[in-house]
Amino acid sequence: MNTIETFDFKKKKALIRVDFNVPLNSSFEITDDTRIRAAMPTVKKILNSGGSVILMSHLGRPKAGYEEKFSLKHLVKHVSKLAGAPVRFASDCIGNVPLEMSKNLKPGEILLLENLRFHKEEEKGNEEFAQGLASLADVYVNDAFGTAHRAHASTAIVARFFPENKMFGYLIESELKSMDKVLRDPQKPFTAIMGGAKVSDKILIIENLLERVDNLVIGGGMTYTFIKAQGGNIGSSIVEEDKLDIALALIEKAKDKNVKLILPTDNVVADKFDAEASVQKTAADRVPDGWMGLDIGEESISRISEIIRDSRTILWNGPMGVFEMEKFEAGTRSVALAIAEATSRGAFSLIGGGDSVAAVNKYDLADKVSYVSTGGGAMLEYMEGKELPGIKAVRG
Ligand code: AMP
Repeated sequence: MNTIETFDFKKKKALIRVDFNVPLNSSFEITDDTRIRAAMPTVKKILNSGGSVILMSHLGRPKAGYEEKFSLKHLVKHVSKLAGAPVRFASDCIGNVPLEMSKNLKPGEILLLENLRFHKEEEKGNEEFAQGLASLADVYVNDAFGTAHRAHASTAIVARFFPENKMFGYLIESELKSMDKVLRDPQKPFTAIMGGAKVSDKILIIENLLERVDNLVIGGGMTYTFIKAQGGNIGSSIVEEDKLDIALALIEKAKDKNVKLILPTDNVVADKFDAEASVQKTAADRVPDGWMGLDIGEESISRISEIIRDSRTILWNGPMGVFEMEKFEAGTRSVALAIAEATSRGAFSLIGGGDSVAAVNKYDLADKVSYVSTGGGAMLEYMEGKELPGIKAVRG
């Protein structure tokens, strides 16, 4: 298989699927350019090797056709600044406009195509549309990890038209490397920490992880489905009544597999879901009627932190509480700090999922953990053991 490191890009046109789905404010200014920055190592490598670059991406969720607020033209200046190269903009991603512009593209130059999702064929995975995209270039590079779990024209189907000349960019390569390290080759003890609002989103990943981990920590809103399933009182905490059986089955599976399942024993409860709510501390299985658990308690924090500090491999997905509100952030913050401490002692730590990534950034710990994943849904599916269409299309 070709790789970005070994392929000879000289005088070649590289079609790169990037994830430039960045937030814009009402003046169409980029408010967070993390995703654009994440693609730069790949872009620069190709330009510096004497190739030219054609960038394609989606932005937002346009309903039908062109919408000003989702135009990639708003990104041109910033991409050019970050790449240190001129960027031309094609007002459509398909047809004569990009075809002519790609013919005139010179080594060292970048062509940015208009939003792929202005055409419904993109999300449908239309083959003709994919062929049209493919006709623009000599080589295909997929570096959009955030959409690798979608079988769209630009993320998967287009690869068919480059039977030899297809590869991953640096971002996908490093995402795969860190996920495989955790899934296939973890140093023990291996601890997974699962949080967030709902257990239903995380059942498959928990099942897959139970085959691999030594410790599985459950926190956040999903705690209460497990506690209720075991007969505890959860007051008006968030719960998924239809998942009580599954919670019990997961507890059983953990026993079978000799995995230590750690549920919070105490928590911070509130009289309403509000930053100004009244709070008290209770046992996690004795939440008073009318109160809801919004964070793990001190006893749980110290037990979980100790387990994390003793681990050699750590996977974290989902906050321990409603960390967006100050009164309920202690659990999430402590977990983030314990992970950073374990990492400084040589553990490998992988953080994924929008909210745990936001937490790591909030506490300024992103460079104190081993890897922060850029793809929420894609990472979750890969960790569930699924084959992602965007990965399969390139790997074959
Ligand atoms: P998810 O997207 O499933 O990872 O959920 C993340 C969201 O879960 C965050 O916005 C948290 O505020 C929320 N969350 C965490 N713990 C709780 C809880 N105990 N009750 C309600 N929501 C929670």
